[in-house]
Amino acid sequence: MPKIAILPGDGIGQEIVPEALKVLRAVLGDKIKEYDIQEYLVGGAAIDRSGKALPPETLKACQEADAVLLGAMGGPKWDNLPADERPERGALLPLRKELGLYANIRPVKMIPALISASTLKEHVVQNVDLVVIRELTGGIYFGEKGRKSNPPAAYDLLYYTEEEIRRILKIAFETAQARKKKLCSVDKANVLESSRFWREIAEDMAKDYPEVELTHMYVDNAAMQLIRYPEQFDVMVTENMFGDILTDLASMLGGSIGMLASASMNGKKGLYEPAHGSAPDIAGQNKANPLAIILSAAMMLRFTFGLEQQAARVEQAVRKVLDQGYRTGDLAGPQEKIIGTREMGDAVVAALR
Ligand code: NAD
Repeated sequence: MPKIAILPGDGIGQEIVPEALKVLRAVLGDKIKEYDIQEYLVGGAAIDRSGKALPPETLKACQEADAVLLGAMGGPKWDNLPADERPERGALLPLRKELGLYANIRPVKMIPALISASTLKEHVVQNVDLVVIRELTGGIYFGEKGRKSNPPAAYDLLYYTEEEIRRILKIAFETAQARKKKLCSVDKANVLESSRFWREIAEDMAKDYPEVELTHMYVDNAAMQLIRYPEQFDVMVTENMFGDILTDLASMLGGSIGMLASASMNGKKGLYEPAHGSAPDIAGQNKANPLAIILSAAMMLRFTFGLEQQAARVEQAVRKVLDQGYRTGDLAGPQEKIIGTREMGDAVVAALR
């Protein structure tokens, strides 16, 4: 029986996950009984109950699962714990590492009904349709780190092996091949040796993908170009920290961070989660936009379970509710009526019928 581990986590994670499950029940119908779907504790919620952000039973369940659907984790209540015990360092990073989820895939596509919700001008964002692929288990976030006392100093090592670079670039080339065949590799090769190594490998691999046009861009320029002329991009690939920053930036091109889904993959196994965090400022108020996690669940149907048709139906239902004018607070313009998290989930379920 295929297994899905559900990790609601903290803050709005607790509110949006039930909406994604509602939508999965609606789109799968009776077939949902063929899946073993169980919830586990993670993040601050797990710290409160068991003292650990990633309890061993949660890790084991995620290792055994075909897919993990995660809400969000973290919040001010746990911010003062030692760094390694906090939800992100204590659970999210180890979960990615333990599951070997080395590729983070974030599609950003402007939904026409949301153009007015963008903070950018309509002509800049109207044709945005890109995918950012971020390396997720290497680089500076996982390199050696430490402090020195005399004189006081701190360091984080940016380290990549050739194998780590090749496997993420392979996904990027293949994704570009299946789309508009344009791949932009983002680095800082004018300063960083790891970037120069990355570039050499990308150039070498490009020979195996003659149809794909490979370009390179410095990360500072990429940040500017994403705001200036995002339409130029099809697939972007980059290392962990640059990707962390660029994916948040790119999220604004799709209207709101509440719309951005993501998949972190190791082969067919995937962890699916919205790009946003636990939004403590609106948690527990039925204000969160559940569409990013609903779209993440659609990616799970497609990438892990091969259910392309059902995934596409969920994506169409999301477009339909937006066309019908349903808006959570993050999407609403000044005159638009705002609905809550649960009502948005219900609207997607109704649109699926
Ligand atoms: P955040 O994404 O939680 O919130 C940023 C802003 O966006 C807030 O104003 C919030 O209200 C809004 N927002 C986010 N998601 C929304 C949604 N679905 N609907 C409507 N509005 C939404 O980022 P933050 O404030 O920097 O972080 C809050 C907590 O989340 C921190 O503890 C952080 O460590 C954690 N975090 C977790 C993850 C994760 O679990 N993957 C990712 C990022 C941040």
